[in-house]
Amino acid sequence: MEVALEVQGLNKSFGALQAVKDLSFQLKQGELLALIGPNGAGKSTCFNMLNGQLRPDSGSVVFAGRELVGLKPRQVWRLGVGRTFQITATFSSMTVRENIQMALISHHRRLYAFIPRATHLYRDEADELLRRVGLEEQAERSAAILAYGDLKRLELAIALANDPRLLLMDEPTAGMAPKEREELMQLAANIVETLGISVLFTEHDMDVVFSHAHRILVLNRGELLAEGNDAEIRANPRVQEVYLGGGITYGADGSEN
Ligand code: ADP
Ligand code: MG
Repeated sequence: MEVALEVQGLNKSFGALQAVKDLSFQLKQGELLALIGPNGAGKSTCFNMLNGQLRPDSGSVVFAGRELVGLKPRQVWRLGVGRTFQITATFSSMTVRENIQMALISHHRRLYAFIPRATHLYRDEADELLRRVGLEEQAERSAAILAYGDLKRLELAIALANDPRLLLMDEPTAGMAPKEREELMQLAANIVETLGISVLFTEHDMDVVFSHAHRILVLNRGELLAEGNDAEIRANPRVQEVYLGGGITYGADGSEN
């Protein structure tokens, strides 16, 4: 498989704390890669360095032949690296469909410069995206009254409107019930397969990780502890030590803290 993302020797410190240490990994085109690890392991710091929000102290991130380090979030996004937000970023005064249309208008405007703002634009494309995430029945509803799980689907559709080649999802299922988590990850897995995009995601529910991720990276105290498929990760003594040693803790609802 073709390499979509090549991360080499990433380092990031916050004062005396080294949050990410010499992190290197590859993400292949069409791969669903999970990044797991205890609370504070450095997962979000890693995501923020990949999407341009945080500048690494050193290291390199090459996506589609381009160095991303030093680029602004907007530039990274324009190169085809999409992300879903932990805090839902939708326009609550609009309908579900209009939210997607806005995202499509914004995406096409950057490609073609002059596109008038009108609500009939990209309606079919918007409906196709809504079908893809299973929200077609909610198209006319106000985004403000969506259930939490549906809002997460809308967020995913908005990210897809940008036609990403790589999607970064930091805790996409945070705050969701187990059944919704499973459904959202199943959806992400289907999208990866249908569209051939690559996904890097974090997730607490190990059942979800083990059943959907093609490959898993385990981060502990900023360092890459292990990498492999579900069987390799389960059997890895170093991973077991971190898990059994109480390094990974989950709340009753599966969320951290
Ligand atoms: P994870 O997402 O795996 O839970 P984070 O990447 O959020 O971990 O955090 C890794 C470590 O870096 C933690 O100890 C956290 O407190 C620290 N950290 C993260 N962001 C900052 C920041 N902006 N300033 C200072 N410390 C930070
Ligand atoms: Mg985090």
